Amino acid sequence: MSEARIIDGKAFAADLRARIAQEVSGLKAEHGLTPGLAVVLVGEDPASQVYVRNKGEQTLAAGMYSETHRLAADVTHDALLVLLAKLNADPAIHGVLVQFPVPDHLNQADIVAAISPDKDVDGLTVTNAGRLASGLPALTSCTPVGCMLLLKDVIGDLSGKTAVVIGRSNLMGKPMAQLLLAADCTVTIAHSRSRDLPAICRQADILVAAVGRAEMVRGDWIKPGAVVIDVGISRFPSRDPVAAAAGKTRLVGDVAFDEAKAVASAITPVPGGVGPMTIACLLANTVTAAKRLHGIEA
Ligand code: NAP
Repeated sequence: MSEARIIDGKAFAADLRARIAQEVSGLKAEHGLTPGLAVVLVGEDPASQVYVRNKGEQTLAAGMYSETHRLAADVTHDALLVLLAKLNADPAIHGVLVQFPVPDHLNQADIVAAISPDKDVDGLTVTNAGRLASGLPALTSCTPVGCMLLLKDVIGDLSGKTAVVIGRSNLMGKPMAQLLLAADCTVTIAHSRSRDLPAICRQADILVAAVGRAEMVRGDWIKPGAVVIDVGISRFPSRDPVAAAAGKTRLVGDVAFDEAKAVASAITPVPGGVGPMTIACLLANTVTAAKRLHGIEA
């Protein structure tokens, strides 16, 4: 069998961002509307700082309004909720995102509940999760939306496919499974208590790995011809000792890439696969939220 197609998420995301920038320019010209995104970062987690900086830069590059709120690691719960209430009420802001994880003294569920569902561009509120599960229009978590765009581009019609999602988080696994179900796949959600995970994965025409365990999914877990979407990110020191000493890291996915690409028909690399799609879909969600808040057909 020939080697898998490597799915170029970077190119797909660049194209998507260009289309979003065009839509933003139309919204400004026709409606005087500039979609605005506020990102809240608590503490100094290095990976989160990179994500937040990229989000801000790409929001501006799409012609949108961007605000980043950097709060000290010991910020009180009440102070964070006051900021979220302010952002909920701010007419210049259409998307509000809190970068997780947050320090242990803060309660993630309470933070999510304090975000207006209309501005919940990470799709984490109970309202948006419920709307997604009920087949109603929702703001849906960015990474699963990005995975679906890649899958539809590669496969076309997903109807009738057997899909396995490894991971059941509210941010990734559950919304991913809901989107696949909505696209008429037969969906299995696997997790840390699943028995005989390799056998479950071998059933999959579509395998989505969202765990965070480097190279856990081996080549012989994959059905020949399957499409593999690797969401997982594990960070290791760079292989170059000088770069490693300077704190540079390399990213590794959940799938043993070289083994998998010999079996799958298409696969996302890490980095350069799912990752770039996440921010592009965040921009798309912010535009959608802005249009809905202004009564413009989304
Ligand atoms: P998470 O909340 O930690 O969830 C991980 C899931 O993996 C859990 O459901 C857990 O099962 C399951 N799991 C853990 N060990 C397992 C095992 N041995 N076998 C089967 N399942 C196992 O993480 P997340 O937020 O969903 O993110 C998952 C990964 O995707 C992480 O590496 C994260 O960095 C990455 N990610 C990437 C992007 C991107 O833009 N590329 C975006 C979001 C997340 P239990 O529920 O049973 O504990």
